Amino acid sequence: MTGGNRGIGLAIARELQAAGDAVAVTYRSGEPPEGLFGVRCDVTSMEDVDAAFAKVEAEQGPVQVLVANAGITEDTLLAIMSEEQFTSVLDTNLTGAFRVAKRAVKGMMRKRGGRIVLVSSVVGLLGSAGQSNYAASKAGMVGFARSLARELGSRNITVNVVAPGFVDTDMTAALSEERQNAIKQAIPLGRVARPEEVAKTVRFLASDDAAYITGAVIPVDGGLGMGH
Ligand code: NDP
Repeated sequence: MTGGNRGIGLAIARELQAAGDAVAVTYRSGEPPEGLFGVRCDVTSMEDVDAAFAKVEAEQGPVQVLVANAGITEDTLLAIMSEEQFTSVLDTNLTGAFRVAKRAVKGMMRKRGGRIVLVSSVVGLLGSAGQSNYAASKAGMVGFARSLARELGSRNITVNVVAPGFVDTDMTAALSEERQNAIKQAIPLGRVARPEEVAKTVRFLASDDAAYITGAVIPVDGGLGMGH
């Protein structure tokens, strides 16, 4: 579980733990969350990812479920977006998912089973003015996941995407009140999501009940993307 020290990631970790799983979370800054096994890891570094997996495997055994959740935004309009602002968001959100998935499938292929859940966004398929870097990274996760679903299906490894809408976390708190209100008005359910609501969907995809679901994009967005 990457990016498990706050926001949606922490909610997913707590949900999986409550379901009886042995959960390990990565944190990049600060301290690991209380009551969870934490390893420091920056997903922009393959060395960090390798070292984090080695620690988790030594403590808890092979990784059976991977949740790639770590993500950043760096919003600005294309006309004034630097190449660095574009590539840094791709590097964390999309290449970061590549790094952890590549490392995780080694053990899953050996075990002939596993679950990968990538946390994308409604924005990946809807688009969002001022977020072309972020939307590109999140749309990329869909093609990535569906390709992996095809590559790994015969090994009993499922790969799915959860696409949250507007969730109450630090990431969205950074938006202006005006923008937050405009987004709320576009949501059929008329409210933002709690991180736990995303976490429950991830828990389902990681459970035995979802054994026949792969290559799916599951929206958790109050209807914002209308099931796209
Ligand atoms: P937060 O900003 O609250 O948390 C982001 C998490 O990602 C933190 O744990 C952060 O660690 C971690 N992270 C960021 N960069 C890296 C990195 N290079 N290496 C390792 N960890 C990193 O975000 P949310 O909880 O809101 O978002 C979680 C995911 O859900 C993201 O992928 C986001 O794009 C997606 N999402 C969020 C939505 C929302 O409305 N909030 C909507 C749709 C999707 P640290 O604490 O060290 O910075």
